Amino acid sequence: MLRRNFLSSMMVGTALPRLVRGQQASQPSAGPADPAPDGVFLERPATGQPHKGKVLLALQAHSDDIPLSASGTVAKLIEEGYTGYLVRATNDDMGDAVGLGTPGTIGENAAGNERDNAELARVLGCERHFDLNYSNHRMADVSLNEVISRIIFLIRLLKVDTVVCWDPWAHDEENPDHYMLARAVEAACWMAGRAHDYPEQFAAGLAPKTVQDKYYFARRPETTRVVDISKQIEKKIDANRANVAKGPGGHLGSRLRAELAGRNQRLPLLGDDDVTADRNYIREFVLARSHELGHRYGVEYAEAFHYIPPGASGADRDPRVEEYIRQHAVPIR
Ligand SMILES: [Zn+2]
Repeated sequence: MLRRNFLSSMMVGTALPRLVRGQQASQPSAGPADPAPDGVFLERPATGQPHKGKVLLALQAHSDDIPLSASGTVAKLIEEGYTGYLVRATNDDMGDAVGLGTPGTIGENAAGNERDNAELARVLGCERHFDLNYSNHRMADVSLNEVISRIIFLIRLLKVDTVVCWDPWAHDEENPDHYMLARAVEAACWMAGRAHDYPEQFAAGLAPKTVQDKYYFARRPETTRVVDISKQIEKKIDANRANVAKGPGGHLGSRLRAELAGRNQRLPLLGDDDVTADRNYIREFVLARSHELGHRYGVEYAEAFHYIPPGASGADRDPRVEEYIRQHAVPIR
């Protein structure tokens, strides 16, 4: 993936978060939310752990997707009480563009990203992670129904309430792994709650489970919710530092520091040791977009989502029917 294009096009999208949606009235389940001037909801830090007892499933195609786009939000939701799990759909064996990560063979790419992704799960505070291990850039070959059924299994097994993933409906997405995973997740969130899909899973002890709400990120997001991740920014830096094989964070800071030293130069930004160099490089360059987005909403750092509120899957009775019953039901004589 060309992350520089990704980041710049993400900004084009987030510069236009103008859509006001009727759904926003029912959004507060994911934490305190304030209407921003353009109608997008700003999800602020919650007090305490309002999500205690709920389960979050964060799904990414590649080891860098969540770190770049949603690691602050995943860390925030886990800090606020969610039990978190991380899914990585591919084996990342294609590596990335020259100069972004660590150069290597296909096998080295797969091994490096496997290690990095495990470290990412630890940094974000996830209970555990699952690698589905599809070939990188080849998910268009995979049966959509196979991916759907594997995700349904995980939703039912882990009793998932909320997902974070790529947006299946976003524009300008060129990576087939992103949109194939996103389409599978969207379908699985709905089908996992139904009583007749994959009945053998019920025989194995699972029960239907409907996902309640979804945070979808995208290259050009249709932004309906902006999450204030200012309190989680150190974790977002660590999440991106974990991406050694793929970058664009990883060890690029310490590598640049060494390169400059070879020319008898130094940048004060990069400090006096490798960890400081890596972290400050990420804070300055990789998180610049989170910083700019945050400032547009009056906070330090932020992430943008197309947020789908509870009720979209239609498993529960329409609340308007419940309200009508409450107002009009009379005893049978
Ligand atoms: Zn990706």
